[in-house]
Amino acid sequence: MTIRIDAARTTEILRDLVQIPSVNPNFEGGVPELAVADYVERFFQRLGLSAERREVLPNRPNIVGMLPGVNNHAPGLLLEAHMDTVQTTGMTIEPFAAEVADGRLYGRGACDTKGSLAAMLAAIEWCAENGQVPAVPVYLAAAVDEEVHYKGVLDLLNIHEKFGAAIVGEPTELHAVIAHKGVVRCEIETVGVSAHSSRPSEGVNAIDAMVKVISHLRDVVTPRLLAQPHPQVGAGSLSVTEIVGGVAPNTIPDRSRIKIDRRTIPGEDSEQVWANLRDELTALDLGDDRARVNVYPPFVLDYTLDTSADSDVVRLLTGAASRRIGEVKTLGVPYCTDASKLALVGIPSVVFGPGSIDQAHTEDEWVELEQVALAADIMIDVIMSYGS
Ligand SMILES: [Zn+2]
Repeated sequence: MTIRIDAARTTEILRDLVQIPSVNPNFEGGVPELAVADYVERFFQRLGLSAERREVLPNRPNIVGMLPGVNNHAPGLLLEAHMDTVQTTGMTIEPFAAEVADGRLYGRGACDTKGSLAAMLAAIEWCAENGQVPAVPVYLAAAVDEEVHYKGVLDLLNIHEKFGAAIVGEPTELHAVIAHKGVVRCEIETVGVSAHSSRPSEGVNAIDAMVKVISHLRDVVTPRLLAQPHPQVGAGSLSVTEIVGGVAPNTIPDRSRIKIDRRTIPGEDSEQVWANLRDELTALDLGDDRARVNVYPPFVLDYTLDTSADSDVVRLLTGAASRRIGEVKTLGVPYCTDASKLALVGIPSVVFGPGSIDQAHTEDEWVELEQVALAADIMIDVIMSYGS
């Protein structure tokens, strides 16, 4: 089958995007996504298409461009990709040179997820320049802040009635990711009573209490999670990822704190998971009535994704992809994406894009350029068939 998209063009757009640094400001060497947003806005203006600039955070706007359809009142198709990247610390290649070698483009964001953004822009450009009018409007949202607080996609929820379905760009090697895990991260504290360590029985050792908490998480909670795996994303998990406690070597500690990372699976409500954990741990027997546990509200919380394989957008996407690359899988993955927030308000959402998650965030991040062009071509099919 002939590919309508000129790979030289997708490469050119991707090179432009990678050459604009957009490390999330929360990371070392970060900057606002402004320059990428300006690029996307100008891209739409040049095509004579409208683009809305939505200020999410200072100098960190989302851009929502639109390719008009026949019926512009109907809910449209959303193509969403984040503009921010992770830090460049430790990279072994020039992060913003966008060098091309052996059919790959190298640089920070090449696969996560400027490859997807380039493919989406190229698909819109091809439709606009070839006079193609989809049945319903197609929106391209270039969003800020996916890598940290996903404030960009949360802003898009304010206009969610515009969107009937969404393709969220992330490196999936052109497969369709329809399920993923969510996450809850929170702090747990044990409180005891301090005393001189020569008379430990006068105090209540908060570290001893924390040992009971950690044992419970490991021996009771984790086996429960492992016993109920999800068919596509596997089992949920609970990991203790940080621990502190004590003030001096000769003092019985009255405080100990841990941070936990709990991965949730489709069917679990991340907020409910946290509430249940709080109830379970605060009821735990710590061996001394004076000891207690505080489970603090999550400092990170994200939702699971569980889109039906029968939804229109998934069928159209897998159909279009399989015509080009053979068998296309509908997959579950362990990592979180912007798609779960869109799904939360009822938008059927599928994660799709060129490149492999294996190269995301790596020291020599790259993307296969042929996949970027293929992704654009696949998206043209979905754009022209969705809603008709
Ligand atoms: Zn990403």
